[in-house]
Amino acid sequence: MENKSVFEMILSGDIESDIIYEDNKIFAIHDINPVAKVHILIIPKKKIPTMNDLTEDDTDLIGSMFICAKQLAKKFNIDQTGYRLLFNTNSDAMQTVFHIHLHLIGGEKLKNI
Ligand code: AMP
Repeated sequence: MENKSVFEMILSGDIESDIIYEDNKIFAIHDINPVAKVHILIIPKKKIPTMNDLTEDDTDLIGSMFICAKQLAKKFNIDQTGYRLLFNTNSDAMQTVFHIHLHLIGGEKLKNI
């Protein structure tokens, strides 16, 4: 049987976490190891290991994740100061959890990339 991702374990309650947003398709949590004052992960309930595994069927899902991100940016008061949204994919990008998640990072001046 395939191992559950840490995010599936959070969703099922096997790992404790403060879920700050949830609907039928996605949920969001604060990153346990934040790289900035605000660091939120927006996660689909459906397990998609990497961005390489996306299909046309996931178009709405990915759109919903970005809409959620902009709403959370407003909620956490970083919509005007600025923020970064990113997906890490595989080893060169240092992806560590193989269940896609959108990083929402802000609340301070970020290093240029
Ligand atoms: P990535 O490197 O893009 O795969 O990002 C995975 C992220 O998940 C990292 O920023 C971790 O700090 C974060 N993370 C891992 N476990 C947890 C957890 N239990 N709760 C919140 N964030 C987590």
